[in-house]
Amino acid sequence: MDSNTIVAHQLAALFGLSLYPRSVAQAGPATYALARVQNAPPSSARCLLIVAPDHRTVSGFRGEAGQVEVEGRPFVLMRCPLTGENAAMLRSVFPWLCPHPLGLRKSVGCGDRLGLATPGHIRAVRESGCMAPVLAQQSMREMARANRTPIQVMDDALWGVFQEGWREGFGADADHLKTPEDVDVCAAAGFTLFTFDPGAHVDGNPDKDTGAKYAALPWDALETTPDEAVRRYAGAGFNLDAPAARLALVKYGRAVAHVARLYRHLKAAMGSRPFEVEVSVDETDTPTTHGEHYVIAGELRRLGVEWVSLAPRFVGRFEKGVDYIGDLAAFEADFAGHVAVARRWGPYKLSIHSGSDKFSIYGAIARLAGDLVHVKTAGTSYLEALRTVAACDVALFKDIYALARERYATDRASYHVSADMSRAPAAETLADEKACVAVLEQFDARQALHVCFGSILAAYGDAIRSVLVANETLHKDNLARHIGRHIAPFCR
Ligand SMILES: [Zn+2]
Repeated sequence: MDSNTIVAHQLAALFGLSLYPRSVAQAGPATYALARVQNAPPSSARCLLIVAPDHRTVSGFRGEAGQVEVEGRPFVLMRCPLTGENAAMLRSVFPWLCPHPLGLRKSVGCGDRLGLATPGHIRAVRESGCMAPVLAQQSMREMARANRTPIQVMDDALWGVFQEGWREGFGADADHLKTPEDVDVCAAAGFTLFTFDPGAHVDGNPDKDTGAKYAALPWDALETTPDEAVRRYAGAGFNLDAPAARLALVKYGRAVAHVARLYRHLKAAMGSRPFEVEVSVDETDTPTTHGEHYVIAGELRRLGVEWVSLAPRFVGRFEKGVDYIGDLAAFEADFAGHVAVARRWGPYKLSIHSGSDKFSIYGAIARLAGDLVHVKTAGTSYLEALRTVAACDVALFKDIYALARERYATDRASYHVSADMSRAPAAETLADEKACVAVLEQFDARQALHVCFGSILAAYGDAIRSVLVANETLHKDNLARHIGRHIAPFCR
């Protein structure tokens, strides 16, 4: 420990604070650290501590400042709440707290609905050492349901990165953006990865009135003609003849035009700031065929869209919070075809959405895609928070679970799930901690807890946060183990 760090620890102890050891960072003559405040409510359980030789050094930060002396040397000690203003100041002091594009690095997306998961995510990434983290990953739907703004999501990630002293870089994913307005708020909040979801513009029934629909595609926006478009893809391989090419264009033509529009909008909004893009069509009713993937990528290319990752809808079922449902051999064959398309138009990464808990297919994905893969996890980190609650507060967990059972029929809308509440254990039967933890592994109960997070956080968010703050180490251990299991198959 250098002398500044020692002073910081001494001063923290004097004020009843304990420093997160990895957070201590030096900039010029000042020392910055994240501190844990004893016996504070969850919202102020952590604070930013700055030790500086004078007031001038810390101008711009807001908090309580005082003069102290250590072994005859005067210091300014500043204790700052974790506000957006202080987050912005800290970003300007330490550039490694800013997200940046990860390019084609193998990566794992870690969503954090409670804003307290980043330290656990970083530990998993640090211990595995083979995947770059995308931390602030949140869809507009998740932000709305968790009642958080894009800036709050970014700031929560920043404090976690600072706490862990993670200087190896991270991305920030504004997930499932559907409109130019979505793009604007997330560009303003500082995100660096923008995932476009043109799902609303995909024709789920292209076999019906194909000819009329084909003629009515937005050919101006697509900057081509009906004849040219078919000629471009008929006979290109991947089972594409003229009828198949036409069908693929009917299914995805409007989606392609929409992505091009979002892309140009984003480019203008970002100006000179670096960014990267993912294209996701994973939330469609039918799987994306290899030919369709080929046409989508070819058209986006032609329209000048650049992307680092693409998420097709693979065969089988990618339900929330449970393992892959479907034939493993069929998945492998399907995935191999998508890898071939991505090699043809790329290189770009294949992105696995609803990627948590798909343990039976990670091996095949890693083998076939090599390093060109991005795995998105989100809701299961929140399930690890609930695992922590189950172990620490049985009564609270039972209330949460009872609410999930009650809300499931309503809250499941817009999610791929198949849970049936008649198979999920009744809340009253959960006798102890062991039974609560076990229910998290029961298929139907797990999906209900997963998709009802909005209702659960609205009712019990504060209570859950209190448990997590009081049991920080267990929460972090649970998260690191969980995310570690997702990363390990890709690090062999
Ligand atoms: Zn998705």
